[in-house]
Amino acid sequence: MAKKDDDRSTPPPLPEPLAVAVADSHTHLDMQDGTPAEGLAKAASVGVTTVVQVGCDVRGSRWAADLAAEFEAVHAAVALHPNEAPRIFLGDPDGWSGQHRAPGGAAALDEALAEIDALAALPQVKAVGETGLDYFRTGPEGTDIQKESFRRHIEIAKRHGKALVIHDRDAHEDVIAVLLEEGAPERTVFHCYSGDAAMARTCAEHGWYLSFAGPVTYKANHALREALAVTPLDRVLIETDAPFLTPHPFRGRPNAPYLIPVTLRAMAAHRGIGEDEMATAIAANTARAFGY
Ligand SMILES: [Zn+2]
Ligand SMILES: [Zn+2]
Repeated sequence: MAKKDDDRSTPPPLPEPLAVAVADSHTHLDMQDGTPAEGLAKAASVGVTTVVQVGCDVRGSRWAADLAAEFEAVHAAVALHPNEAPRIFLGDPDGWSGQHRAPGGAAALDEALAEIDALAALPQVKAVGETGLDYFRTGPEGTDIQKESFRRHIEIAKRHGKALVIHDRDAHEDVIAVLLEEGAPERTVFHCYSGDAAMARTCAEHGWYLSFAGPVTYKANHALREALAVTPLDRVLIETDAPFLTPHPFRGRPNAPYLIPVTLRAMAAHRGIGEDEMATAIAANTARAFGY
């Protein structure tokens, strides 16, 4: 018989607080239960005192910028998600936002990017992203639009001197190719890093940051832990990507920034260092990567 605590809809318990405070470098508070103030207080109670709130479309990006203006603990990232850009261009009644029921073409994409550009200028917006390529959710008909949108976001990040947050799903080689063609911004973050150790070495050569999420704790993901092991300690970030990707042993239950300590402890154990050392590095890295 399942105990109440095993219920998949029950939030996992509060972990032991971290002694050294860190940031959740990538979260979506607008998709989580409860108010942002509650989520931030719960996170702060276990030493997760800062979050980067990431927008995925124009509306979500505005929301992120507003939240970051309201809360000291929040920094914003703004962008059209790589699955959103083709929806704006091609139209998609089943899209997550439901905003783009008719094909908008290049003019609609331009208009949306102009809004992202304006938001990127705000002081509380520390990053442009998540942008990049997603070949898992978007089919070949959207590839060119994703690449164009990715290039435009890279340009916006560089012009405003903001960090770039990359979403890369099943598109490692093309993401790196576009980055190198355009010239990566000085501060570039691979969110929810999903490559192997060889790719991590490539990223390290370019000084890019790798942000590890819940999957680094999943039993089958040996290649991801090998990547963590070879990433220079000064380029390691941590994130929840909540409400998605809840760390082991709570996989399948709702994720939120307060669960960062679970992933951080697994990462420290895998690297064979203490959790305070891991947290100290991550705290400094996140502040450096996002420039706050
Ligand atoms: Zn993502
Ligand atoms: Zn995300």
